Amino acid sequence: MASPRPTFELYLWPAGDCDCLLLKTPGGRWGLIDCGLSSLNPKLREQERVWAMVEDLKTFLAQQNITRLAFVQLSHPELDHAKGMYQVLKEMEFEVFCTVSGALNRNSLTKLKELVEDRVAEGRTRFLGATRGLSFWQEPEHQFELVALGPGQRDLTAFVVSLQRKLYGPNGGAMPVADPVKQVGPIIEETELHTAKPSETLKPSYNRLSIITLALFGEARILLGADALTFSWCDLAKSPNFSVSASANQSDLRAQVIKLPHHGATDGLPLELAPVFLQEKAEALVSSSGHGFASPSAEVLDGFTARGYPVYCTGRSAWCPELAVGRACTGLNQVIVASDGRVTIDSEKQGRMTHPGKCR
Ligand SMILES: [Zn+2]
Ligand SMILES: [Zn+2]
Repeated sequence: MASPRPTFELYLWPAGDCDCLLLKTPGGRWGLIDCGLSSLNPKLREQERVWAMVEDLKTFLAQQNITRLAFVQLSHPELDHAKGMYQVLKEMEFEVFCTVSGALNRNSLTKLKELVEDRVAEGRTRFLGATRGLSFWQEPEHQFELVALGPGQRDLTAFVVSLQRKLYGPNGGAMPVADPVKQVGPIIEETELHTAKPSETLKPSYNRLSIITLALFGEARILLGADALTFSWCDLAKSPNFSVSASANQSDLRAQVIKLPHHGATDGLPLELAPVFLQEKAEALVSSSGHGFASPSAEVLDGFTARGYPVYCTGRSAWCPELAVGRACTGLNQVIVASDGRVTIDSEKQGRMTHPGKCR
């Protein structure tokens, strides 16, 4: 009997209003990108229901006999991407941990930071600081690779400068940013010292640090947009990665599937740039719709649909009729990608572990 052709699988875990992506590589390895946990929906906020989602994920991993993850990526240090991560990782091995250097310096991520540092010190995990062009996982035998397309140097510099201005006033922004990669950690630490007197004006834009991931598998390209901001997409659109590829078919980087920034209502992938990043009839995924962050808004979802990109979403808020401003969502999206670029999306995966309750 012929063995089945290897596929790349992506699961959008229904983690409330959050991002939690589980990946299965063509080589049969598993990886995690983000494991957020929260809900602005009061009916879903009760602790045991929120944590049940992490338990569902752990049960799923246990059922697949997964005790070791190939890679873990934290796209950026916000709780809707990070909160459940420690809970999942403390009992697992993970070979690679990838995030922007210094991103774990937030007080709320101390346990995760210590866990990663301990594993690195014990030689069990490799830490990779993400900047544009970093290839953080490769399976050459399957022509499979995961590449960070962002954040770029401009994103990191803008992040450091905006925090300097918030901390030290407008002139603070005149301080030199010699090496933004090295300055991210210290400036986050400095900002956290001021959290005793929290002010809205000090709130850093952590979305600026979002890693945009491109999965390459044969002819297939999958773009995972984290919460990347318009500024980052515009910057990336100008980079040789995409401008060169437009003329060279062979290295066409435009994706068949994109995970849209869920903060994309007002700041995300601009609709007019969609053709730069997406192939015709590409499919779009969002990890929640119509949730408390109000994104992506109906305009974004409708805009993608109108341009011929079907949108699939997952998330729990959208089940609640009184809070749904997006559209009805399913529990778990399973995306199966073949190396020739064919994509199958199963939005009601049979046997999924999560049984979302409808809000009544
Ligand atoms: Zn987010
Ligand atoms: Zn975010």
